[in-house]
Amino acid sequence: MFLELTRPELVRTQNLIDGKWTDAAEGARYPVANPANGERFVDAANSTSADARAATDAAARALPGWRATLPRERAAILRRWHALILANLEDLARIMSTEQGKPLVESRGEVRYGASYVEWFAEEGPRVYGDIIPQQQRGKRMIAVKEPIGIVAAITPWNFPLAMIARKIAPALAVGCTVVAKPAEDTPLTALALALLAQEAGLPDGVLNMISASRDAGVAAVADWLADARVRKITFTGSTPVGKHLARESAGTLKKLSLELGGNAPFIVFDDADIDAAIAGLMASKFRNGGQTCVCPNRVYVQSGVYDAFARRLAERVSSLKVGPATDDSVLIGPMINARAVDKIARHVDDALSHGARVLTGGRRLTELGPNFYAPTVLVDASEKMVVCCEETFGPVVPLFRFEREEDAIRAANDTPFGLAAYFYTRDARRIHRVSSQLEAGVIGANEGAVASEAAPFGGVKESGYGREGSRYGLDDYLSVKYVCEGGLD
Ligand code: NAD
Repeated sequence: MFLELTRPELVRTQNLIDGKWTDAAEGARYPVANPANGERFVDAANSTSADARAATDAAARALPGWRATLPRERAAILRRWHALILANLEDLARIMSTEQGKPLVESRGEVRYGASYVEWFAEEGPRVYGDIIPQQQRGKRMIAVKEPIGIVAAITPWNFPLAMIARKIAPALAVGCTVVAKPAEDTPLTALALALLAQEAGLPDGVLNMISASRDAGVAAVADWLADARVRKITFTGSTPVGKHLARESAGTLKKLSLELGGNAPFIVFDDADIDAAIAGLMASKFRNGGQTCVCPNRVYVQSGVYDAFARRLAERVSSLKVGPATDDSVLIGPMINARAVDKIARHVDDALSHGARVLTGGRRLTELGPNFYAPTVLVDASEKMVVCCEETFGPVVPLFRFEREEDAIRAANDTPFGLAAYFYTRDARRIHRVSSQLEAGVIGANEGAVASEAAPFGGVKESGYGREGSRYGLDDYLSVKYVCEGGLD
């Protein structure tokens, strides 16, 4: 069986609350399916608001002790956690590929990537400096101190089951916050395995609490955190409508939020680009996780001088991508996460064809492989009338739009409510600066398709959200600044 693990006990199907693995309060469970065949392979705890409340109670009890530990003591636990994640890399990758569907080579990469955030924040935590403000009045000293914000609620999506939760939990723990977390309903197991390893690394009881839930039950459980005044911070990665819902519903207790939301990334290829590099960059950024990433190019704008040659060469590369289940080590594109995702992709392609697009390769479901497979697709003659232009497709589909002038490409690229990532390829150094400054996005790839790094600030503008993850900026969201004015010193 594929889920044969060196340490089978890494598969947890209960909640972690106050250091104990427990069933949901009402004892309910829900099925977790393998997207490659649509079959349930395990049942996980289906938590309710009672479990969410128990998690917050535990986090509240643990907070005073945890925030009082020295930053280097917290860092030592994070470093042990980092080492354990890497020591269990193969098991974690297998759990991830089984519940999420991504090829094993990508799952292994995600384990390393997620672990890199734990290591990074173990290093950054002890370097949270405050300020002594230059003296303004005699007899007074003004000091700015950074303090942990308190209990953090982390809610994450299914497309990066390990990395998204690691890059929230690690900075929160590093600065002395305690955490309640709910991974996505489709992919609870990778996150729960990560929580077990945190426990093995020596994290005290109650500092990290994690609950799983089906989609509907999860909404009710999270609602408890949104209303609870003890939870001071919501960190969320997921879709824009859900992010807006969390912002609205948490307003009653004015929590701090970081929202990493949906994208609609443009990818612009200018006539003067290195076409080989542009194709390599597009392949890397578009087809990771089968196109199910928030930063993957959704709209590809190609200048008319190179449009036809670019389309032909891209289609050759895309048609050679091997599609199949994660059990096959040579596969590069796995199944989509569920039937809803494949239906959306098919709807986008059908809509494009009905508005005049043409298929160069792909353009169909691969039902012979399983229920959730879609062929990597290249569409030419894409236009602004099509849904692929304004909605995130979240699948292996590349629509190619033609443009004539630089200003047309910038206008089209920015003509979206979203602003997460944007990419462009050119050999002109002045254009690199000009276009970088004009694109409305939080992350820019200039002659580069692989932008993710634990050392870089990641996050969006406009309706792609706010807050930054990774880098030294990634700590700010978990801190509040306290100003202390010492008087009577003269
Ligand atoms: P989603 O918004 O449907 O779900 C994300 C999480 O929110 C899940 O845990 C889900 O159970 C929970 N949730 C859903 N409705 C909720 C509600 N009403 N109240 C409380 N919790 C609720 O997103 P998804 O489909 O899992 O993920 C795909 C989306 O995530 C895409 O839009 C993608 O662009 C985005 N994403 C963004 C980033 C980023 O860093 N900006 C990274 C990865 C994915």
